[in-house]
Amino acid sequence: MSTVAAISTPHAVGGISVIRISGENAFSVMEKIFRPVSCNEKVSEMKGYTCAYGKICDGENVIDDGVLTVFRAPRSYTGEDVAEISCHGGIFVTEQILRLIFSNGVRPAEAGEFTKRAFLNGKMSLTQAEGVMDIISANGKAELRCASALKEGSLFRRIKKVSDSILKLLGSLAAWVDYPEDDIPAVTDEEIFETLEAAVKDLDMLLSSYDSGRIMRKGIDTVIAGKPNVGKSTLMNLLSGCERSIVTDIAGTTRDIVEESVRCGDIVLRLSDTAGIRSTDDKVETIGVDIAKKKLETAELILAVFDLGSEISEEDISVAESCKGKNAVAVLNKSDLEKKFDFSRISENFKESVILSAGNGDGAEKLSEAVGRIYALGEIVPDAGVIVNERQRSCVEKAKDAFFEAINVLRSGATLDAVNILIDDGENSLLELTGERASEAVVNEVFSKFCVGK
Ligand code: GDP
Repeated sequence: MSTVAAISTPHAVGGISVIRISGENAFSVMEKIFRPVSCNEKVSEMKGYTCAYGKICDGENVIDDGVLTVFRAPRSYTGEDVAEISCHGGIFVTEQILRLIFSNGVRPAEAGEFTKRAFLNGKMSLTQAEGVMDIISANGKAELRCASALKEGSLFRRIKKVSDSILKLLGSLAAWVDYPEDDIPAVTDEEIFETLEAAVKDLDMLLSSYDSGRIMRKGIDTVIAGKPNVGKSTLMNLLSGCERSIVTDIAGTTRDIVEESVRCGDIVLRLSDTAGIRSTDDKVETIGVDIAKKKLETAELILAVFDLGSEISEEDISVAESCKGKNAVAVLNKSDLEKKFDFSRISENFKESVILSAGNGDGAEKLSEAVGRIYALGEIVPDAGVIVNERQRSCVEKAKDAFFEAINVLRSGATLDAVNILIDDGENSLLELTGERASEAVVNEVFSKFCVGK
């Protein structure tokens, strides 16, 4: 494979920049342009995992000074010989050094090419490579935890277990199909059922955790609903910890939809404050109310706010009715006031309810617990392996469908040949997921989402 190089740090001015070069000529090129000062060794003599301070030179011309780190194959990120230069973090100086490397027969690395080489050289599975990308893009604690688990191979191991059991089954079936007359103990239908059913069960569990996992990582598209003055803006401010929307006690003053992400315990809520659900003649406000209604229909989670200090009204009942069958939490606000609100009249519309005071913050922690229960977030254990993207989900689903169909076909009395084909299909989907048998197109697609230098 050719030798490639790229700047691995952001394309911006900083303290230092790192240029990475990987491939069989990595050290010979470095030997030409890097003059060690801190040691007497030549670059080609440096041991793996060692570094040297020195000058980066284009012939007699010194471009910069910096530190060279050497990683020898196969004990490097890519599995090839890798050298990394840490130089001064200016855009111009970094580009000069990169150009110098290119002028020595090295080609620019494509997006994700270092990680792709790591995958092709068997340093990591495709799902682990996806974990690397997820670590870089992680925005929160839960997301990072899932990404690290993925990179450490949690999903790979879980899939591998299923895939190995299916491979064993396929082996027995192949022996039977190829040498039916031999004395090889035939696989019994029971054994086939047992293996396939166990596989379907495990894949099903993985699939069902996908939504909760996605929510835990990316947050929940949430809308705060309720008639004017129940405390929606106050709740939003409490959640975001700042004066984000204008709080006022003149009905209908929150006219636009204010959107932002807030952290509710471990969960990120992508919040829209709304103009309140109520009929109005005011033009500007009508627009806000329309958007709010639409938001109510499409939101993944509704926080419906009610005022404990007032009698329940028609408007409250209509808000509650629009929550029916949805993931909705009744937020019974103003717990500091004397209770006049009869929640029992509307409670059946909600999966959860919490009593709190948005004004003074009492009981706020109960909200995240309620949301966590709705999405069964407590049951997600990233280390046990979870699927985190559409590619992975689709592979798992295809495998599960194929095994499920194989069970049905076998039940209906079809020949083992037909069953064999279906099981093989399912196994292929699993191997595509881990990358053990992924097409070039699939592999390219995965790495195209990486940044250059990774
Ligand atoms: P919105 O129209 O639903 O957005 O309601 P606001 O957030 O603007 O609040 C309306 C009024 O209720 C304001 O005067 C708030 O200070 C008050 N309010 C909000 N939450 C509480 C609470 O928990 N207790 C009390 N006593 N008043 C509250």
